[in-house]
Amino acid sequence: MEQFVETLNIDLEQERKDILKKYRRLLRTAKPFLKDNDAKLIKKAFYTSVEAHKDMRRRSGEPYIYHPLAVAQIVVEEIGLGTTGIVSALLHDVVEDTDMRIEDIDRLFGKKVAKIIDGLTKISGRFEYGTSQQAENFRKMLLTLSDDVRVILVKLADRLHNMRTLDSMPRDKQLKIASETIFIYAPLAHRLGLYSIKSELEELYLKYTEPQEYRAISRKLRETKSSRDRFISKFTEPIAEDLEKAGLNYIIKGRPKSIYSIWNKMRKQNKPFEEIYDLFAIRIVLESPQEGDREKALCWQAYSIVTDHYKPNPDRLKDFLSTPRANGYQSLHSTVMSKSGQWVEVQIRTSRMDEIAEKGYAAHWKYKGNDTKVRGNIEHWISQVRETLETGSGDKTAAIEFLDEFRTNLFNEEVFVFTPKGELKVLQSGATALDFAFDIHSEVGVHCMAAKVGGILVPISYVLSNGDQIEIITSNKQKPTEDWLRVVRTSKARARIKDFLKEDNRHYETDGRQMVERKLKVLGIELTAEVVNQLRAFFESKTAADFFYKIGKGYVQLDELKRFKRDKEAKERKAVTNTVIPPIEGADGKTYTKLLKNIHGDRADSDTLLIGDDMDKIDYKLAPCCNPIAGDDVFGFVTINEGIKIHRTTCPNAAELMSKHGNRIIKAKWESNKDEAFLAGLYISGTDRVGLINDVTRIISNELHINMRGLTIDTKDGVFNGDIRLYVQDTRHLDILISKLEQVEGVYNVQRFDTNLTGSI
Ligand code: MN
Repeated sequence: MEQFVETLNIDLEQERKDILKKYRRLLRTAKPFLKDNDAKLIKKAFYTSVEAHKDMRRRSGEPYIYHPLAVAQIVVEEIGLGTTGIVSALLHDVVEDTDMRIEDIDRLFGKKVAKIIDGLTKISGRFEYGTSQQAENFRKMLLTLSDDVRVILVKLADRLHNMRTLDSMPRDKQLKIASETIFIYAPLAHRLGLYSIKSELEELYLKYTEPQEYRAISRKLRETKSSRDRFISKFTEPIAEDLEKAGLNYIIKGRPKSIYSIWNKMRKQNKPFEEIYDLFAIRIVLESPQEGDREKALCWQAYSIVTDHYKPNPDRLKDFLSTPRANGYQSLHSTVMSKSGQWVEVQIRTSRMDEIAEKGYAAHWKYKGNDTKVRGNIEHWISQVRETLETGSGDKTAAIEFLDEFRTNLFNEEVFVFTPKGELKVLQSGATALDFAFDIHSEVGVHCMAAKVGGILVPISYVLSNGDQIEIITSNKQKPTEDWLRVVRTSKARARIKDFLKEDNRHYETDGRQMVERKLKVLGIELTAEVVNQLRAFFESKTAADFFYKIGKGYVQLDELKRFKRDKEAKERKAVTNTVIPPIEGADGKTYTKLLKNIHGDRADSDTLLIGDDMDKIDYKLAPCCNPIAGDDVFGFVTINEGIKIHRTTCPNAAELMSKHGNRIIKAKWESNKDEAFLAGLYISGTDRVGLINDVTRIISNELHINMRGLTIDTKDGVFNGDIRLYVQDTRHLDILISKLEQVEGVYNVQRFDTNLTGSI
């Protein structure tokens, strides 16, 4: 993110003024929280940072100090951290990027700040290549979480500012940083209850990965604003009147959905903007004199007023007042029917709850003492994360697996259950009696036979419900089996069972290896490291150990090795006769980038795969999951044993590929598309009329001379939905077609889709 640049024609005096202005703004925002020597400490951190970064500039050309200042501003203004947070934010890049060492920070600012900076330095994510470094990094980041949660909060602020200033980065970096953000940082902000930061990260992700759609949706939101505002004011008028009569102090906020969530819905449900934008929520924020039970009563009083005017949907009442979410979120949610027949979500909460909802974890400190229930939940969560991390072993696949499971857990809701003694346990929703047993203790888990719920005997696969009181029945003869992995939902139980099975299964692996070695000898093949890798790939196993295990266990028959031999020989023959470079097994992005540079010599974009031009030199394929066509924004992904696949940057898998396997990404662009035609699919919908299909096919075949592969139209109650597959030259060609089709009378929506194109129609 940083680099040194030469100082050219820069107004240093003006910059100095700007820096001081930003610094004073920071002090002003922090002022209400400052005690004793705090201001002095912040000043010291500021001057230390200015001095350390004095010769550095950001890629945009700005003085580097603008960045730590902005991060500190976010930390105090948007997260609500105090002096230690501000000081850490100001110094967050000092050890990473300058000559200062952690010992210097310790000496100047004390242990606490040094520890945070140390954590931030360790997790700094500046990696171009390297398998799963991202996952490993993330693991490290979470390990620091229980030491001091401020490490993660400052890291989130750092990421937010980098996303806000992403404009100055080159396109491939933008995509990589944005993908990482949506994959890891936004879910993390969500889990820590930082809703506004989470939403902003999501919006920025969309802005950089799907700039056109982002602009289109925001334009449509602007255009529909006044009719939305009219609806909201009409809807809230009677509520406001009654709230006033009841003598309550309140604010009503009517907010449309975020651009990101509209886009997500459009994509998932394949619906146009018009069917989604008007689903909005009203929030009633009540001013409450003190916290405690009075707050709850006020919220229910407001609920009663709302439902005097609008009929609620009984299935959609959610009481997060009595049972807050694990991240501390408290609110009362209901969905009611408006007079014009639309469902409107109503959220009711006090201003204290509202601040916690927006700022999350850090805002709790402001209300410390009285809120032990909420804080207890977060501490519980952090200790769970820590435990999960400690059970995972250090190898690379474990880190990726861990990341996957952790992400799943981030989105899960909880179920609340009790031990026989009445102790509350919070597990993820869908957890079973066996998960509960492992949550109590792994010894209880591995010997779990069955459970009693409310005195009734249930199997270990019993799915827990809120309020269950559970007693675990154990037996010393019991031990985990592979089936147990299908019974449990929590990562903690899964990790413990896997550890147990691994120990138990180790001899299958050694047996398997010996069997393979003997059989290959007979076939005249030596078991070298290369052959082990080929075997692993041929039998589609994750690791070599996995493959030997399958043999040892008898899941793969030894005779299959003959098939392996035939395939191996065929491949070797092919490699001799073919001039196209075949997929290189085990290669990553770096290998291919080097190869491309060799092929292209010293042209400017020599590290980029030129689709079309390179066809007869390097083996690549267009990915079937997103079916790119010429003109699409694309990248190359080096698969383990199928060579390079070309994906669209908007592919549903792109974010995951880029953030988990950054080292397998290579640059790609369309060069000459000669006479190639690409298969594309369009959804088309509208109101039916006589001659409509005729008009549509006339445009496709006669006007634009496009070859159709298939067309289906379904008509129901005067509305039609169609699915057209056709061959186009590039995106420009497709865009012309879409705009022509949109002009056909009765056609309401035409949209490109990309999956399952080759399937039956
Ligand atoms: Mn930074």
